[in-house]
Amino acid sequence: MVGLGFILVREERGRESAVDVNLLYSQARRSFGVWKDTSLSERLDYLRALRYVMVESVDEIVDVIQKSTGKVAFEALTAEVLTVIDTIAYWEKEAHKILGIRKVPTPLLLQRRRSWIEFKPRGVVLVISPWNYPFQLTAIPMLAAVVAGNTVIVKPSEVTPEIGGLLARLIEKAGFPEDVVQIIDGDGDVGAALVSGKPDFIFFTGSVRTGKEIQKTAAEHLIPTVLELGGKDAMIVLDDAPLERSVNGALWGAFTNCGQVCMSTERLYVQKGIYESFSEKLVSALQHVTMGEMTSAAQVQIVRDQIEDALEKGARLLVGVPPSQWEEDSMEIRPTVLVNVNEDMAIWHEETFGPVVPLIPFESEKEVVESVNGSPFGLSASVWSQDLKRGKKLAEQLDAGSININDVMITVANPHLPFGGVKASGLGRYHGCEGLRVFCHETAFMASKGTRRTELNWYPYTEEKYDFVLSVLENIFGRKKRWGRIIKKAVNPRIWQ
Ligand code: NAD
Repeated sequence: MVGLGFILVREERGRESAVDVNLLYSQARRSFGVWKDTSLSERLDYLRALRYVMVESVDEIVDVIQKSTGKVAFEALTAEVLTVIDTIAYWEKEAHKILGIRKVPTPLLLQRRRSWIEFKPRGVVLVISPWNYPFQLTAIPMLAAVVAGNTVIVKPSEVTPEIGGLLARLIEKAGFPEDVVQIIDGDGDVGAALVSGKPDFIFFTGSVRTGKEIQKTAAEHLIPTVLELGGKDAMIVLDDAPLERSVNGALWGAFTNCGQVCMSTERLYVQKGIYESFSEKLVSALQHVTMGEMTSAAQVQIVRDQIEDALEKGARLLVGVPPSQWEEDSMEIRPTVLVNVNEDMAIWHEETFGPVVPLIPFESEKEVVESVNGSPFGLSASVWSQDLKRGKKLAEQLDAGSININDVMITVANPHLPFGGVKASGLGRYHGCEGLRVFCHETAFMASKGTRRTELNWYPYTEEKYDFVLSVLENIFGRKKRWGRIIKKAVNPRIWQ
């Protein structure tokens, strides 16, 4: 077993990329030549070894994630490490079912053939990931690609550069063969250079702006992509919602990971009948919130700008620190709840990605559905009601890739469920079956024993054949089923010879 190709590139933005893209791709293609022929069981053995290494290194992993992001240890453990380990265990159990040969029926006119689907790896996959859950959002697509038989080039975010090294060490300890995974440290220019290197598939998680840039280059070379982009998730609290649970759910949905979650609750709609009691309870329950620091200084500025913009346009701080008391250069933003927000404010329609949530009263279900679906984003949403039927009916009207009822964000933690957005929140899905199959070419097979001299659809095109196909069309696909007529025609040997 040999080591891992880990290339460390540190450079200033604007300088020519120092990454030897051609070398990386030639190494990845060479290793693909071997890796694609390993059996799924063999590949899962490496994953199992990695799972054990992760469990044994859990303190180190949590420590590196914490130092790199500023998040609290509990969130690093649950939302990053546990999620990855649980997903690996899911593949160990389900991958054979998901990627195994799938037999499918063959239509009557194509009789005496068998049909099936095989899932073949795409080749070299490029994974580009963000900084908010840098461990989980790098490891899961990277390992899914590997399970499916691809080799991977991975570029984690430059904002959390320690994560690449951490993953490289873990993979090396698990004994992965050389160059099956190559992790590159670098910024957006490095990412762009890697995209131009023409991978066979790109899996990108990050902002809409970068997603569009990647998609443009990918389109030039017809490279398929999955884009997991931003969100502006709504939580809808109906007047019969379990009140305390909804309040606690709202706090976690808005403030976990300092609100730096693509599926954060960024619009909190509360039905008018319970609006007052909900907001009172929300304010008093805030004492239970535990938050770390923001990860990126640039993101602190974006969040501050949105709060200032909202306050200038008439919003009010129900909870939070007013701009006059903000400390320059601080990475801390206290939990913030805004009221009196309206559509003229950036906070209404732009992603915030910080611990700020607008509290919005609404009257009718129709009104709230229109408002929620008016967003350009559609990643996830939640509906809260003690009447599950009512909650489900409302949930089904929302434009979002995933929806929770009486819970928030948690679909993403179930590896059996697909994950991804609609509208500006992204293209494609991962997790669940799709999370492995998306890294494959779905190849269609059909086989005949080859004992017949010719086939119905081949030459010569005789009148008998025409008559027979017409009869099938009318009698099988039409209103009346007259099998007798078809059988009579089908026994005519001239049709099949
Ligand atoms: P970003 O788009 O700035 O950067 C993401 C990654 O892309 C980084 O690794 C970066 O170096 C790289 N990159 C930047 N420019 C590039 C280019 N031109 N070509 C190739 N790569 C390039 O995003 P971010 O600030 O790191 O992450 C925050 C965003 O990610 C938010 O919008 C958030 O909603 C989104 N996000 C989405 C999901 C999801 O699953 N839908 C999950 C987490 C975060």
